[in-house]
Amino acid sequence: MPVSLIPYNPNPDGSCRNCRSALNPETWLCVRCGTAHGEKNRCPHCRTVARTVPHTALWHRCSVCGKPRVPPGPSAGTNNPTVNQTLLQAGQSNRAATILKLLSYSLFGLGTFTEIGTLLFLWVSEPQRLTSLIALAFASLPLLLAIFARFSASQSVRQRDKALLFAYSEHVIGTLEQLDRSVEAKQIAGWLGLSVPTTETLLTKLNTDDRMRSDITDEGEVVYGALGTARVRLESPPPTRVAVPSNAGPVETHTSTAASDVALTPSDVSEPNDLVDAEFEEADSSASKRQQRP
Ligand SMILES: [Zn+2]
Ligand SMILES: [Zn+2]
Repeated sequence: MPVSLIPYNPNPDGSCRNCRSALNPETWLCVRCGTAHGEKNRCPHCRTVARTVPHTALWHRCSVCGKPRVPPGPSAGTNNPTVNQTLLQAGQSNRAATILKLLSYSLFGLGTFTEIGTLLFLWVSEPQRLTSLIALAFASLPLLLAIFARFSASQSVRQRDKALLFAYSEHVIGTLEQLDRSVEAKQIAGWLGLSVPTTETLLTKLNTDDRMRSDITDEGEVVYGALGTARVRLESPPPTRVAVPSNAGPVETHTSTAASDVALTPSDVSEPNDLVDAEFEEADSSASKRQQRP
């Protein structure tokens, strides 16, 4: 059977197929060995059931094919075509950025070499002024191309971050719509495997764009929900039993504290680069102003 068709479901008792330990009820990742189970961990790109691993540039990517993925959360799965297509675009932009950066370094090295060589040659041979200028112009060509490649690489990085931001935002909205309840930024950060400040800026941007709602609980905590969510329906504890895949037996659940034991933690992911933070700054400040109003 091709790898893409193997349904890697938990054991009938809900334990890990690899080490028989408990699974995280939200992500279906083994809390001990990290093995991924179930359709929610199926990669939309290579179709294998595999966990995601943190990545500096792509935030998270598939442990098998290396393409960008959103970590599994409480939603049913990662089968939103818009999200998956945008993630693929982010991967392409990242590849383009890497190639262009390498090209710019090579051209810079070559340009420096030709420039110094030409200057030495002109110093020794002392040709006519016009000849010297033409020779210098040609020698500078690799340096000019290096600058152009570097600029194009920066553009690709910006496109990558924009695509990642869009994909994660769509994923958050889809998850909140499925859950039909409001949750705190800290919990959403856990789903996304991002730091809380980064998640908060992402949520603030969605909020200011009127794509989700936020409320303040009696305890003063800000909670976020899909637009149709009833006002302040706070997070209820995870169910004591979770849905079982088609050919697996009943699955015992585990306490929500198990989630923190899983290998994928928000702190594993480095902060998305400054470009994203800069993009958020404006939304962040406007949201702060809104909150200060009586
Ligand atoms: Zn295991
Ligand atoms: Zn994959």
